[in-house]
Amino acid sequence: MSKSFKNFIDSKWVDSVSGKTFYNMNPANKDEILGVFPLSDAHDIDLAVQAAEKAFKEWSRVTPPMRGKILFEAGKIMAKKKTELAQTLVKEVGKTMKEALGEVKAAVDMLYFMGGEGRRLYGDTTYSELPNRLAITKRYPIGVCGIITPWNFPLSSISWKVSPALICGNTVVLKPARDTPETANKFVELMQEAGLPRGVLNLVHGSGEEAGEALVKHKDVNLISFTGSSAVGRKIAALCGERLAKVSLELGGKNAVIVMEDCDLDLAVDSVVRGAFSVAGERCTATSRVIVHQSIYDNFTEKLAAETKKLKVGSGEDESTDVCPVINEKQLNTIMRYVEIGKKEGAKLILGGNRLTHGVYSRGFYFEPTIFVDVRPDMVIAREEIFGPVLVVFKVNSFEEAIEVHNATEYGLSGSIFTRNVNRAMSAVDRMETGVCYVNAPTFGSEVHLPFGGVKKSGGGHREVGKAALEVFSDWKTIYVDYSGGVQNVQFHKD
Ligand code: NAD
Repeated sequence: MSKSFKNFIDSKWVDSVSGKTFYNMNPANKDEILGVFPLSDAHDIDLAVQAAEKAFKEWSRVTPPMRGKILFEAGKIMAKKKTELAQTLVKEVGKTMKEALGEVKAAVDMLYFMGGEGRRLYGDTTYSELPNRLAITKRYPIGVCGIITPWNFPLSSISWKVSPALICGNTVVLKPARDTPETANKFVELMQEAGLPRGVLNLVHGSGEEAGEALVKHKDVNLISFTGSSAVGRKIAALCGERLAKVSLELGGKNAVIVMEDCDLDLAVDSVVRGAFSVAGERCTATSRVIVHQSIYDNFTEKLAAETKKLKVGSGEDESTDVCPVINEKQLNTIMRYVEIGKKEGAKLILGGNRLTHGVYSRGFYFEPTIFVDVRPDMVIAREEIFGPVLVVFKVNSFEEAIEVHNATEYGLSGSIFTRNVNRAMSAVDRMETGVCYVNAPTFGSEVHLPFGGVKKSGGGHREVGKAALEVFSDWKTIYVDYSGGVQNVQFHKD
């Protein structure tokens, strides 16, 4: 008998109104059912929104330092439970224990960072043009926030959104990804343990098409914060646009590393291997393209293939695993389809390219680390997000061409350059069309006190984490207090 899990609405654990359910499965072993979860629809969403709306009145009046205390407490509990939480991530995402612990850390960091914001939430104080007049700005909450998260970072993506939402005084309805529901239950449990009042954080499980879309369309949800694919992001933006709801989108990527002839070659190879194949390439910031100067191209690709060959594909539960399984059959089929497209387009496959099916691999969704070389920027595999352990390599003749190839994509999440030339490094930083940029480092590894997000089709213009997240989850109010005793106004004409 599989363990049964519930939605969390108005501080009660409840089944879906329809009684429908879905299974959660271990991607390393599809015969292992991890639990049964409520398959919710618009009814459940409506109940959760009503609870969040009711709770908003009181929660929005709790002072930010007091809200912050709860986030600090949640951070402490999460840090204490890090192994248990990481084990859940290993089971339902498939990632390795090390990768899972890294994700828990990112979630804890954000709870602490936003806990601290409770004593800041700074606005501006300035002089008015007029005498005897105070001019200040203050942040106010937006109301009920709908939060929709992906499966690849199910804990940190929830913490990165829920923490700023709560510190700003909003209440939340969370709809996590269907492939990783248990992590969301654990997050909600520990928030309750930390003392979050009734109805402030509600959780509704289900599919994106039913529960997700019902949340996006609900008239009483004032903000949707979404992380996921660009295709779904586009749909959500249109639906929010129709009813003028605020929307924040963190979307896909096709992140590239530029490798120049003067770089530390071993460092570049090591960074590309980690960037491309850790978490099976299922990071939004995964390295999926490498742009290499022609003078070191053969040397680089040889070393890259040799290092990648050493990686062990396996279950995240196995300590010796380097490359974990991908999330599900659908994702595996997408990856295989792109590999076939790459071959047909004339890219040269130098490593991998196959699903692993022998022995223990037959039980899960395993794919070999795969490298295509001699890729052209106009190829489909060079442009579209594959979201798997597949890397494409381009040969370029100059720095100028490297920048051109780097920017020849609709995405703009993160990018990196390996070079010892500081002028070139800084020029690349200026010219890379990305929201996050690294020099001599892999394309991933964001810190919570700095903004994170992409440009072009990788986002909707907002940023997550850092104090930039407060811009998403609060509204500014501009306040003038006149203590002159007379009627004065900057628009009264004087010349
Ligand atoms: P997805 O877009 O399929 O789903 C994301 C979430 O949206 C899930 O909870 C899903 O149930 C929900 N959803 C799906 N259709 C919906 C709809 N019509 N209305 C409302 N909600 C809907 O993405 P995924 O497969 O879960 O995640 C992988 C994608 O997420 C990749 O493209 C990756 O690059 C991106 N991602 C981006 C970031 C970032 O910060 N930029 C971080 C992680 C993942």
